[in-house]
Parts: sequence; structure tokens; C-alpha cells
Amino acid sequence: MAALGAGYESPVSPSTADSPQLLNPRGSSLRKVLILYTGGTIGMARGEDGSLGPIPGALRRRLQSVDELNQELFPQCFFDEFDPLLDSADMCPEDWCTMASCIERHYYDFDGFVVLHGTDTMAYTASALSFMLEQLSKPVILTGSQLPMEEPLTDARSNLLRAVIIAGRADLTEVCIFFGSKLFRGNRCKKMDANALTAFDSPNFPELAVVGTEVKIHHRLLCNPPKGRFRVHLMTVTEVIVVCVVPGFSDSFFDSVATAGNVKGVILLLYGCGNAPARKTSFLAACSKLVTAGIVVVACSQCIHGNVELEKYAVGRAFAECGVIPGHDMTAEATVTKLAYLLSKGLSPGECRKVMQDNLRGEMFSPAKTLDVSSSWTDLQSPCSP
Ligand code: ASP
Repeated sequence: MAALGAGYESPVSPSTADSPQLLNPRGSSLRKVLILYTGGTIGMARGEDGSLGPIPGALRRRLQSVDELNQELFPQCFFDEFDPLLDSADMCPEDWCTMASCIERHYYDFDGFVVLHGTDTMAYTASALSFMLEQLSKPVILTGSQLPMEEPLTDARSNLLRAVIIAGRADLTEVCIFFGSKLFRGNRCKKMDANALTAFDSPNFPELAVVGTEVKIHHRLLCNPPKGRFRVHLMTVTEVIVVCVVPGFSDSFFDSVATAGNVKGVILLLYGCGNAPARKTSFLAACSKLVTAGIVVVACSQCIHGNVELEKYAVGRAFAECGVIPGHDMTAEATVTKLAYLLSKGLSPGECRKVMQDNLRGEMFSPAKTLDVSSSWTDLQSPCSP
């Protein structure tokens, strides 16, 4: 069982210096990108015991000597970092709010934003930001690396340079993850590999762009530009727990979850298309009790690909009849952050149950598999233009 925001004993909540420093004076002044380093391998170094940890100031100094950034092809890059820097395993919703607030403060000063982040929880942060940054009309690109910048086989340099080009030049109005050679919608991503340099995938949605010798953006899949003014809604309600169902599990703890009064949402990771042991009547009763207690209960799948359809099998339907709602094809990362976002907006359980099933930021419902993507590739080779 995992809880979203509870029990973090961080002595210091990260802050940002808020006076971003220019890294590359010879970059094109027609475009400006803010790079926010939050922590993660990309700026880490090995300590005496061989373990990796982030070093304050080191990544900025290193980036100031990256020659490629000092070309007209690149936007001018300004750098700020978290204090303290965090391994992303240590991140919590408060840290997502720090990132969102930093973007909000600098929103009108920059054309795009690159958030450098550890890979372990990058998909959660990308999902959370995608909901908190409302009416976003600029690119927010998260990236990181599997190896530190200083190591010989590093992926840090290419991930960062490519993310910066995309953030400075592409017509994107959403939160994305760039990793390896692909740009993904942030709230569709999962970290799929602990070691490979292609660590991320977007299992239920095609990539938005591919970087090879040129940048190919798949425009038809991008989120539409917003109609309203940008604003941030911070995630303040984080009492959401995630429960992974396994055969023969003990469900006795649900009683205290239903009665304690401090849990607002439960994400169930079920089998296949949303199936669970309906023969286990105590589990069905527990789900009913949660729903009656005003807790929003959402079913996701333990499968990486595919869609939750609670009505497909009798065992799944039994849970739908208890008031469990389907998470459709959302990742668990998107589901948990979307629910926390909606609860933070003060929606009632009934409203949350309804809006959870609406597509807010492209986080759910795959396009038709037959969509012709070939006609919409556009190349991003032309020089910076205002
Ligand atoms: N533990 C690191 C982190 O998530 C791993 C990484 O950066 O890839 O911060």
C-alpha cells in the first residue's frame, strides 16, 4: 500500500533561489528557457562510498562549459535549482507545488521550461504538473538521465540539449517528458526500465515527437492551445492511497481506512481490464464501505497496456456496482495525481467520481489505432524565429 503525501519528515522544504542565472550568452536572445534543476542523477556525483548524490551548484558550473549551448540554434538558457537538491525518491506533493510555483512566477519571462528531475518519480511529477498548470500555453519539458553528466557513457548531455531545443522552439502547450530520443505526454508516461537509457515509455499513447537528425513533431497528437489565462492550482489534498491487489491478500485494513476519516481516495491496482476477487465478499463489502464513507475508489490495471472496463467480466462488474469507478487507460501515476488535484479543488466525492472520468489534459482515452500519423510530421530545423 502506498500513500501519496504522508509522513515526510523533510527538515527543509526545497526553495529556489529565484534569480535564474544565464548559462549561454551566445544562445539566441529571441527565445528564453528556464532550466530548473530539482535533483536526480543528471547532476549527481559519486561520494566516497560510491553512492550517488546531488551536489549544489555543480550542474550549473558544468553547463556553463557546454559549448553546444552557446550556439544560435539554442535559446538563451537561465538556470535555477532546488535548495536542497532532492533524489526524486524523496519527492512529495509539496515539492511538485514548489516547481509549479516557480513556473508560475517566471511564466511570462520565458518561452519554455525544462525541469531536470530524477527518473524514479519523474512520471508522477509530470502528471502532477500537467494538472496543476491550468491553461498552459508553453512547453514544460521534464528530463533527467540514467547516468551523471560526468560519466563517459552518459545520456545526460543529449537529453538536456534536446529537451532545451524542444522547450525553446516547439509549439507545445503541455507538460512532457523527453528521454532518449522521444518526447512523451507527461501524464501518459511510466518509467519502464531501471537501467536502459530508454527508460521511459508512454504505453497507451504514441510519442509526441522523435529526435533523430532532425526533430519530428507529431502535431495531430498535441494538446490544443488553451482558451483561458494561465493559472496554477496547487495540490494541497494528498490523502490518496494506492493498493495493489494480489491473490489471497488481506483486506482487513480497509475497515480502518473507511473509518479513520483522513483518506479521501483509494486507487486499486486490479488485474487485467479491472478484475478483482468478487468471490471475496469481504473485499466487495470493504469497497462499498469506502464509497459510502465518501472515499473515491478508482480501479486501475496492473497491466501496462490497455483499458479498464469494469463491466466486461462479472467479477469486475460486481465492483462497479459497489461504486468503484474505472480509471480507463490512465497510468497509476496520472490517476493518483488527478484525484489529488480534483480533491484539492474542493470537489465533492460525487463530482470527483464524475470528473475523474473526463479527459482533462490528454491523460486518458487513446486515439484510434488507425490514426494516420505519417502526414503530420514536421521538421524543427529552421533557425530561431521570434
Ligand atoms: N534515484 C534517482 C532519482 O530519481 C534516479 C535518477 O535520477 O535516475 O533521483
